Amino acid sequence: MKTNFDVLIIGAGIAGLSQAIALTEKVVSLSIAIVSKSALKETNTRYAQGGIAAVMSTQSDSYLAHIEDTLNASQHKADKEVVSFVVENAHKGIHQLENWGVRFDQVQNDYHLGLEGGHSQARILHVKDQTGAAVHDELIKQLEHHNTISVLEYCEVVELLLNANGEAAGAWIYNYAEKATTKINSKTIVLATGGMGQLFQYTTNSPIATGDGIVLASTLGAKIANLHSIQFHPTAFRELGKSKLFLISEAVRGAGAHIINEKGERFLFKYDLRGELATRDVISSAIYQEIKTSGNDGVYLDCRHISKELLAHEFPYIIENCKEGGYDLTIQPIPITPAAHYSCGGIQVNMQGESSIPNLYAIGECANTGLHGNNRLASNSLLEAIVFTRNVANHIQNNVANLVYHPTETAKQTELSNEEPDFFKAETDVLKALLTAYFISKSENDKADLIEMVTYFKEQLSNIYSNELSELHFRWKLELVEMLLQNDSLNVEVSPVDEHKLQW
Ligand SMILES: Cc1cc2nc3c(=O)[nH]c(=O)nc-3n(C[C@H](O)[C@H](O)[C@H](O)COP(=O)(O)OP(=O)(O)OC[C@H]3O[C@@H](n4cnc5c(N)ncnc54)[C@H](O)[C@@H]3O)c2cc1C
Repeated sequence: MKTNFDVLIIGAGIAGLSQAIALTEKVVSLSIAIVSKSALKETNTRYAQGGIAAVMSTQSDSYLAHIEDTLNASQHKADKEVVSFVVENAHKGIHQLENWGVRFDQVQNDYHLGLEGGHSQARILHVKDQTGAAVHDELIKQLEHHNTISVLEYCEVVELLLNANGEAAGAWIYNYAEKATTKINSKTIVLATGGMGQLFQYTTNSPIATGDGIVLASTLGAKIANLHSIQFHPTAFRELGKSKLFLISEAVRGAGAHIINEKGERFLFKYDLRGELATRDVISSAIYQEIKTSGNDGVYLDCRHISKELLAHEFPYIIENCKEGGYDLTIQPIPITPAAHYSCGGIQVNMQGESSIPNLYAIGECANTGLHGNNRLASNSLLEAIVFTRNVANHIQNNVANLVYHPTETAKQTELSNEEPDFFKAETDVLKALLTAYFISKSENDKADLIEMVTYFKEQLSNIYSNELSELHFRWKLELVEMLLQNDSLNVEVSPVDEHKLQW
C-alpha cells in the first residue's frame, strides 16, 4: 500500500469526495488519499433526503431572506459573515455539483424547489427524496476520472500525527481487511469525518457517525467549539427495538403533513405559531413536552389529507421505508420521535477551513464554521460542505509550493486488534441512554448521573490496557461526552404560547 501522499482526506461523504475532486481539478499533480472507515457508500451523505438550500434566482427569492432564515434558526448564534458567504455562493456550489453530473429535479425547465421548516421560501433543490445518494453516486463516478486519487476503504484513522514543527503530518490507520496498522505520511490533512449522532440512544445517523475526527483533532490540541449544539430531528420513524431510526424528511411537513398526538390533535400551535413549519429544535422540544405532559409517547405524522399522487411522486423512498416498517403513510398516521440528527459544532475552522493546527483542515459536519450557531437550518449542511470545498481547495492550491514532507514525531503505534468489537456494548448503551436523557430533560439530576457514570467508567479504564479497537472507541466516546458537557447551554426550550396571543 502506498503510504506517502500530498493530501490525506479522512472521510468519503460529500465533504471528503468533493474536496478531493475540487483539489485534483485545480492541481492535477497532487497525490491524494481518501480514507473511509467503512464501505465507501456508508456515509450520512447518502441518507440525506430533503436536499440542498440555495437561492438560484433573485427574482423569486432573495439572499437576504435565506440569510435571515439561517440566522433565525441558529437562535442568532450563527456567524453573519459566514452565513452571508455561504448563502451568496450557494448557486456556485449547485453549479459545481451539476458540472460533476448531479441532475436536480426540474419542473417546466426550472428547478423544482421544496419548502422545509424554518425557510420562508421554497428553495430546496432535490433529487426526489434521495438527494444525498444521487449526489454521492455522481461524486463516486467522478473519482474514476482521476487516477491521482487513491481510495482506502475499510481503513480507520486511529491517531493523527504531528511533525517537530507542530504541523499535522500523518496518521495511523487500522486496515480492517488486512487487520494491520499502517502509518501514512502526508503534507497536509483534511478531516471530513462527519457527525456524532451515534453517541445517542436514538439517531438518524449512519453507524460511522461517531465523532472520530473531533476526538482525533482535539487530541492534537485543536480548538473544538459549539459541540453542545446537537440538533434533534423531530420526525424519525419510531420502530420498536431500533436505535438507528429512519428519517421522515422535513419536506413531508413542507408538503402539508400534520403532527398529531394520541387524541388526533395538532398540538404544535400551543408551542409555536408556525406549527409544523417551525424549526426542528422548536418542534422536537414541543414533542418532548407534549409526551411529558400527556404521559404517553404517542406522537404521529399524519399525511392522510395529502393527495396520494403527490406523496407517491415526491416521497417514494419514504413511503417504501415506512411500508417496510409496517405502516402505510398514505392511509395511516406514522409513529414518530425526535432523534439525534446533526452536530452543529465541531473542529473550529476559519473561512479557508483551517483548524488551529497548521496543515490540518476540517470540512463538512465535523467542522464548526459558524454557519449553524445553536441550530442548523434544514438543508444547509450539504450546502456548507460544497461551498467550503472551494475555499479549502483554493487555500491548499495557494500553499502547494510550501507543502513538504516532515517526519512525524510520534513513537510507533501499538498494533491494534479487532477481535472483540462488542466488548464495551453494555457500557456504551448505558452512556447513550444517560446522555440522551440529559439532552432531553436538561435536568441537573440527569447531568449529575451522567458525570458520575463517566467518572466511574474512566476509573475502570485506568486499569485496562488492551490493544482492542473497541477499547479505543469507548475511550473516544467518554472524551466526546466530556467535551459535550464542557459547554452545555443546551438547545432552546419552548414554552406554550400565551392563549391570548393565539386568539388574534
Ligand atoms: C437521515 C439524514 C438526512 C439528512 N438530510 C439532509 C438534507 O436533506 N439536507 C442536508 O443539507 N443535510 C442533510 N443531512 C445532513 C447531511 O447529510 C450531513 O451533514 C452531511 O452529509 C455530512 O457530510 P460529511 O461529508 O461531512 O460526512 P459523512 O457523509 O457522514 O461522511 C463521513 C465520512 O467519514 C468517514 N470516517 C469517519 N470517521 C473516520 C475515521 N476514524 N477514519 C476514517 N474514516 C472515517 C466515514 O467512513 C465517512 O466516509 C441529513 C442527515 C441524515 C442522517
